[in-house]
Amino acid sequence: MREEDSVNTGARRPPIFDGHNDTLLRMQSDGISFLERNEEAGLDFPLAQQGGYAGAFFAVYIPPAGLKVPRKGADVARLALASFAGQETDPPLPELGYARRQAIGQMAALFRVERESGGRFAVVRTAAELEQALDAGIMAAVLHFEGAEPIDADLNGLEVFYRAGLRSIGIVHSRRNIFAHGVPYGFPLSPDTGPGLTKAGRRLVQACNRLGIMIDLSHLNERGFWEVADLSNAPLVATHSCAHAICPSSRNLTDEQLRAIGRTNGMVGLNFHVGFLRPDGAFDTDTPLDVLGQHIDHIAEVAGIDCIGLGSDYDYIAAPRAIATAADLPNLIQALRDRGYSGDDLEKILYRNWVRVLRATWEE
Ligand code: ZN
Repeated sequence: MREEDSVNTGARRPPIFDGHNDTLLRMQSDGISFLERNEEAGLDFPLAQQGGYAGAFFAVYIPPAGLKVPRKGADVARLALASFAGQETDPPLPELGYARRQAIGQMAALFRVERESGGRFAVVRTAAELEQALDAGIMAAVLHFEGAEPIDADLNGLEVFYRAGLRSIGIVHSRRNIFAHGVPYGFPLSPDTGPGLTKAGRRLVQACNRLGIMIDLSHLNERGFWEVADLSNAPLVATHSCAHAICPSSRNLTDEQLRAIGRTNGMVGLNFHVGFLRPDGAFDTDTPLDVLGQHIDHIAEVAGIDCIGLGSDYDYIAAPRAIATAADLPNLIQALRDRGYSGDDLEKILYRNWVRVLRATWEE
């Protein structure tokens, strides 16, 4: 059905598939239920239903030991960015047992949502399962690790977590681990901040290729990015990043990186955090949706229209007020329509590119 028809008849909006959320961390830290409305949340199941948020990568993130994870509030993004990466320039590596307890806690939270959802929420492990869920209006979750801290250097954990449903890994968060060096947050700053993969990191990339686990480049520094690009046989993917040419944050991708992503028919999920979107890097939620449009235009131009989608990063970010929660996402769709995106191109941005890249990566 063409979009003109759907506008006129009020038929189903295209589903939205999201490259990244941190809802599992919020569930673990705040003890909230995903299935019920939570007043403080930018994303929960009722908000998602309202906004057409049909599926996402659900991230397992290991907070530094002893960190009190900030609750939602005016300053949550600033606090989260500072503390998640570790306040120190070279924070100690998390202990494997601690990282695994955290990971299993967040994975259990995800599986409980599925069990208690009455068939409205499914953890998907294949592209066919993903497409079936989107067709049926069942919320689709891809289990993702944001940082490979729960995995040992021998990669035994990788085998086990894969069997449990792990289908995507960011090798690092914005800090060091046994596999690679993350990119520290900085503005304005180049993502070229230091050494890349370790030997164990190179083995991890090859093992992910063998198993068909997607590798997420979003928190890697530039050296690590190019080492993965050389080693990996899968499309290059950054699940929640923006364009460095527009907002020179170290978390964003240079045009050279965008071109490499385009050459592999990979993917960028656009992050909604105003500090990664605005040319001045300010944490100002009075940011027009136009700025997201500028990033999407730029990435579509440099990497290709097949290589851009969404990667919200709800719920530890400062999103533009017009898309403060997942229920507001129709505002973003309207902003994209106003910019001239429609039909196939709009559907590619909203979900089809993600489905394509996952099918290619998971090699079914
Ligand atoms: Zn992140």
